[in-house]
Amino acid sequence: MLEITNLEMSYGGISALNGVSLAVAAGEMIALVGPNGAGKTSLLNTVCGFYRARRGGVRLEGADITGWPAHRIARAGLIQVPEGRQMLGPMTVAENLDLGRHACGTRTPFPRDRVLELFPILAERRDQLAGSLSGGQQQMLAIGRAMMANPRVLLLDEPSLGLAPMVATEVFRALGNLTRDGLTILIVEQNARRAFAATSTAHVMEKGTIVHSGHSADLAKDPIIVAHYLGTS
Ligand code: ATP
Repeated sequence: MLEITNLEMSYGGISALNGVSLAVAAGEMIALVGPNGAGKTSLLNTVCGFYRARRGGVRLEGADITGWPAHRIARAGLIQVPEGRQMLGPMTVAENLDLGRHACGTRTPFPRDRVLELFPILAERRDQLAGSLSGGQQQMLAIGRAMMANPRVLLLDEPSLGLAPMVATEVFRALGNLTRDGLTILIVEQNARRAFAATSTAHVMEKGTIVHSGHSADLAKDPIIVAHYLGTS
């Protein structure tokens, strides 16, 4: 569904991605973990077309989308939920959801009722201003808004950041439901323990390269991974 091959990207002379390759199969949810500054956000932003790759390529459902502008990539069905949510505070929950629809181009929008079913709190708050929601509710709204574009692939940057553990569990449960409906998801997570628990496959990134890959359950008990990445999470 999504294939990233030898992707390289740099900020001016500073290299952020040094040949990243990974693939996400249809209906799979995979995780990308790693320390601060590893290049995880840079990878998502390059895949989405916000930054230009220096080398390598990205394919979405077999189509080569390398170098496409971000809006065209979104219309092709690859949507990112960015870190920090970027919610439009002075607009209501319902208005924010409707905004998400614009990114789907000529494809059929996702049913708003299905989003409200996934996150019932958004149905209760539909006329409330997004800026007055809690952090967890804003994260749900950000995911709901991205879903309105009916993506084929969803990229999430740190969806559990700043959330209480129970709220984060609720967000991950909704993502699991979406993959059961056929959505393909790539999640960047600081909390490696949570990421391994929620996904089938995971990749560990350091200094712009993938340094470990495997089944999430195996990585979660690999002594090297435990020592380096699971110590405090
Ligand atoms: P974090 O979890 O802290 O967001 P990350 O794994 O997502 O980390 P990136 O944000 O992709 O890492 O950063 C990768 C490298 O690129 C870091 O060395 C960072 O300082 C650098 N970098 C990120 N954004 C920019 C930018 N806009 N201009 C210059 N360098 C940048």
